[in-house]
Amino acid sequence: MPDTLIEAESVNRRYQQGGVSVIALACATFRLYAGDRVALIGRSGSGKSTLLHLMAGLDVPTGGILAWPSLGAGETLLPGKIALVFQVPSLLEPLTVSENVALPLLMANATCDISRAVADSLATFGLESLARKLPEELSGGQMQRVAMARASVGNPSVILADEPTGQLDQSTGRALLDALDAHLAGTRTALVIATHDPAVAERMERIWQIEHGALIEAVAAGERI
Ligand code: ADP
Ligand code: MG
Repeated sequence: MPDTLIEAESVNRRYQQGGVSVIALACATFRLYAGDRVALIGRSGSGKSTLLHLMAGLDVPTGGILAWPSLGAGETLLPGKIALVFQVPSLLEPLTVSENVALPLLMANATCDISRAVADSLATFGLESLARKLPEELSGGQMQRVAMARASVGNPSVILADEPTGQLDQSTGRALLDALDAHLAGTRTALVIATHDPAVAERMERIWQIEHGALIEAVAAGERI
């Protein structure tokens, strides 16, 4: 049995919207294992981003139990153990592409050759020619590729990507996921991608469907979930 990285038992997240309590996530129970490849699919507003933020320890549930059995406490996860690719562009504006990609390694006091790791990551995602550019000089799609390079450079245990191909045309989106597959080949990194795109979901081994905050595993995968 592979390592359980994230374990959720009846996890809820409610928000207060103008005095009204809105349930963004209701009673989510699941396990994420090392090496998992999960597509999180659901309509806009169904709770995908809410779930990813909870899984990253960036947000806390309003009910239920969420744990990271082999990773540690929720507040220690980002960006070294779990990397999150946000739905909206999240690059640091004053830093170049290279510097943005180096950030997780610098924050983790990595002992590896940081410039080598950054160069490899830029090459994997076809970003070499953009290394010295600032985020404001990039297209939305290029920013997403940089965000993916930054998420994967430190070889985290989990990558959570929130609609990473949402701004890309189909062939560019496919190339991004091919690059990510190449980077992850032979690793035990678990990957969860929130997506609307059936072509993206088809590439993954497990499908988690979320509807109005209710999460179900749409494709049976043994006794998992
Ligand atoms: P998705 O990523 O699937 O589009 P979200 O997780 O962003 O869905 O949102 C789920 C629900 O929670 C929506 O009804 C949304 O309006 C609500 N919601 C999300 N974030 C907040 C917030 N910070 N404050 C209040 N309501 C929120
Ligand atoms: Mg979202």
